[in-house]
Amino acid sequence: MKKLVIANWKLNPSSLKDAQKLAASISIKAKNKVVLCPPTIYLSNIQYPNIGSQDCFWQEKGAFTGQVSPLMLKDLKIKYSLVGHSEKRGVGETDEMINAKAKALLAQKITPVICIGFGTTVEHDDLEVTDILKSQLDIDLGGLDSSKVIVAYEPVWAIGTGHNATPEHAEKISIFVKTKYKVPTVLYGGSVNLGNAKSFLQQTNVGGLLVGGASLNAKDFNQIINM
Ligand code: PEP
Repeated sequence: MKKLVIANWKLNPSSLKDAQKLAASISIKAKNKVVLCPPTIYLSNIQYPNIGSQDCFWQEKGAFTGQVSPLMLKDLKIKYSLVGHSEKRGVGETDEMINAKAKALLAQKITPVICIGFGTTVEHDDLEVTDILKSQLDIDLGGLDSSKVIVAYEPVWAIGTGHNATPEHAEKISIFVKTKYKVPTVLYGGSVNLGNAKSFLQQTNVGGLLVGGASLNAKDFNQIINM
């Protein structure tokens, strides 16, 4: 079955030319569905079938310096937007803000990819992890149609560290989120690479991957999206 693989380029690459080169080197006929999330400043200049934003604001327009609205994203035909990434939560983004962003995205028919897992540690057992995720999702998904969002489980300790969660743990968490919150697609993210991607994609309830570092290497990423 086709899974969803989202590339989060974060603050890379450093020029539009390199971003266009990277996008052009990613297969458009992959086995899995692929979404590229380049930095906001490149969004209107990247050609790829599915483009996502790394973040957005919850207001449509007005006196909000530096922000980008879902209305603007829609105008650029952006279909997805990450919200609640740990790197945003780490600088003050709250679950209430994430909820407002998700609602604003849905109002423009853009799919929010709500990232959860900030605040977890490698020492937490599954129950402790689900308690933390519950406290996030109860607010993140408040008052919106959860069947229209994607959730990405990204234990913060696994992001960019080279220490991934086990595929079995990702599967358990995916089942929890799908069952309790009626979210159809749950992705795993956190140090996914060429060596471990398949073991996550093979899990029945893991709907795909959110890939940071490894998505900047076209050779590796093209193999991951074809697993
Ligand atoms: C991410 O930024 O969402 C991520 C999972 O990063 P990495 O794959 O580099 O751990």
